[in-house]
Amino acid sequence: MIDRPLVALVYQRPGMPWMFEGARRAGVDVVLIHRPNPRPDEALPAQLPPAVVRTLPLDIFGDEAGALAAIEALHGERPLAAIVTALDVAVPFTARAARMLGLPGLSEETSFAVRDKREMRRRLEQAGLNTPAYVGLSGPEDWKVAADLVFPVVVKPAGGFTSLGVTRVDSAEDLETTVRSVWEVCERYLGYGGSSVQFEGLVVEEYLDGDEYCIESLSYQGQVKIHTIGYKGRPEGPYFEEKVYRAPAPLSPEVEWSIIEQITGAHAALGVTDGPTHSELRLRGDDAYLLEMGARVGASGASHHIVESVTGADFTGDTFRIAMGREPLGWNDPVWHRGTGAMYFVPVGGSGRITEIAGLSEAAADPRVDRIVQLLHPGDRILPYPEYSGYPGFVFSRHDSYEDAEQFHDALDESVVIHYE
Ligand code: ADP
Repeated sequence: MIDRPLVALVYQRPGMPWMFEGARRAGVDVVLIHRPNPRPDEALPAQLPPAVVRTLPLDIFGDEAGALAAIEALHGERPLAAIVTALDVAVPFTARAARMLGLPGLSEETSFAVRDKREMRRRLEQAGLNTPAYVGLSGPEDWKVAADLVFPVVVKPAGGFTSLGVTRVDSAEDLETTVRSVWEVCERYLGYGGSSVQFEGLVVEEYLDGDEYCIESLSYQGQVKIHTIGYKGRPEGPYFEEKVYRAPAPLSPEVEWSIIEQITGAHAALGVTDGPTHSELRLRGDDAYLLEMGARVGASGASHHIVESVTGADFTGDTFRIAMGREPLGWNDPVWHRGTGAMYFVPVGGSGRITEIAGLSEAAADPRVDRIVQLLHPGDRILPYPEYSGYPGFVFSRHDSYEDAEQFHDALDESVVIHYE
């Protein structure tokens, strides 16, 4: 007799292990739903990741009805206790599948509000939360409606991810060209102009010039618990490559309060009552402005590394527990910061065919390094911005202090280099 709950995990990249490890700690079996034709960096390994008992190829974007029917059939064979994803673009599908089976999950409105940056901005503004002046564009020819904003502005896809196409524009003269080029990127990578695209459109909003932070939270039955606030640098554009993530960030009481207020308010405004969130915000003065809130574990599960290093909490395990309607571990205990967690994004540093990624094996030997994940390899090609090639890799580490993490990242800036043909 099988007594372990079965959970469907949607489009989890096997090389990012934290969701699988969380499933194992939560004591669940996983059906890994994957793309029918996985991309090279998503290929299924010969030995399945922890907790995975079965794999199921489904085209959730190209054939949503077929994918839902297959999940229903699976549920008929062995009932699912939850359906979970850490992939932002799969959040609306996952929510829909959960509703179909009567399982806990986001409402349809919430799953769209956390994916469509126009709807998100509208809701935050309506709730009285900090919002930069912004406009939504439904096509590139609408660019003129953004010309009255105060420059610099940022142009971004309404339903984008990982900074794809996100571009800073410094003056009204350059607006039309940038809007058109971002739209072209969206046609190539997000299917704009096609039939099945969900969030076609752009957002143009005022540039926020302060530091950037990432916030990892869990909510359960409407109560929000902020686990970590981490520093993300102060990227200035015109393209926004992520570089570092270190938590807990040193914060003044004013800034900390503003972040807590905006994050708590955003959960209510967007209707996220249960599950993990990964939020990004930037400062203007001491005031925090949300850039986006994803209703999932961030960074393909890697946010677990940050949370666990800082607080010891079982972030991905709790994600599965909440998805099954269970209380997260230690839910009534206060969050206690006992260490520093860090994540370094291997910088692209150019474009072309990769011949070598230097410095990673040396970094792996450092006792502070927990794990290195390499997603691109010699022979892979990195396209110049604003094209999208994915992340080359990450270095995950733990430190006794924030300063030590900062020094470690500065040293990696010198030693980790991608060489091109
Ligand atoms: P995505 O979902 O594609 O990651 P975001 O809205 O998070 O899109 O934007 C990606 C990055 O672009 C952010 O992390 C931030 O560095 C930068 N960015 C986006 N909007 C703004 C803004 N209004 N002001 C300053 N920087 C911004």
